[in-house]
Amino acid sequence: MLTALIEGIRSRPIPGAVGHCPFCNSEMIPRCGEIRVHHWAHKSKVDCDPWWEPETDWHRNWKNEFPLGWQERVFEDHDTGERHIADVYTLAGLTLEVQHSHLDPKERRAREAFYKNMLWVVDGSRLKGNRSKILGWRGALTEIFHGGQRTNLFLTSEANELFPSDWLESSVPICFDYMGPNAETSSAPTRLFLLYPGSVRGRRLVEPLTRDELLRAIYSERVHISAVRSVLKNVLRLRFSNRRC
Ligand SMILES: [Zn+2]
Repeated sequence: MLTALIEGIRSRPIPGAVGHCPFCNSEMIPRCGEIRVHHWAHKSKVDCDPWWEPETDWHRNWKNEFPLGWQERVFEDHDTGERHIADVYTLAGLTLEVQHSHLDPKERRAREAFYKNMLWVVDGSRLKGNRSKILGWRGALTEIFHGGQRTNLFLTSEANELFPSDWLESSVPICFDYMGPNAETSSAPTRLFLLYPGSVRGRRLVEPLTRDELLRAIYSERVHISAVRSVLKNVLRLRFSNRRC
């Protein structure tokens, strides 16, 4: 975790300090070494959020792209009493969940239903098969031109061939990052691929982005579920001419 409570105040890890987990309130100790991203660790194994996964520096670096006050926010469903801790929750109400390890589709659906307006950032580098699939992206994506202009929105009927299959049924946008902990830096595409949920006449909508472009899209609320759905609607209405990029 990147945050813990010190005397009730959300705090970064400070050498020698003692904090408490904002979720389970158990004692946390700061880890402020020279190699890993500074973080807090539970002092003893406790029952924290069952959705929490051990974090890589890749995961922590994504969270650290956002203000301290947005990181690791505890959510409670007041009807059911269910509680979870979101990796990032923006001021405008978007939850970001950063996912390195395999996620059971049941749990994926449960998180999407719980957070509703959310974006996944998924480690595309974890499996060699995933890394090699994306290498053919240029041939598998067809850019949408509108009024003679490029849109940087692409359609594909080969999403199965490009992206990890266990994520294709997601009901929210997913950003695949191939520069994760297992990246092969010599060949991995440095751009991110935003896969829109749903389909356009049987094809999937994809937007390649740099990391900065994704951050701008998050800050400008362009990846909120309502905005994403209206992009899909607009694309469906277009009479576009398709060209290979
Ligand atoms: Zn905890």
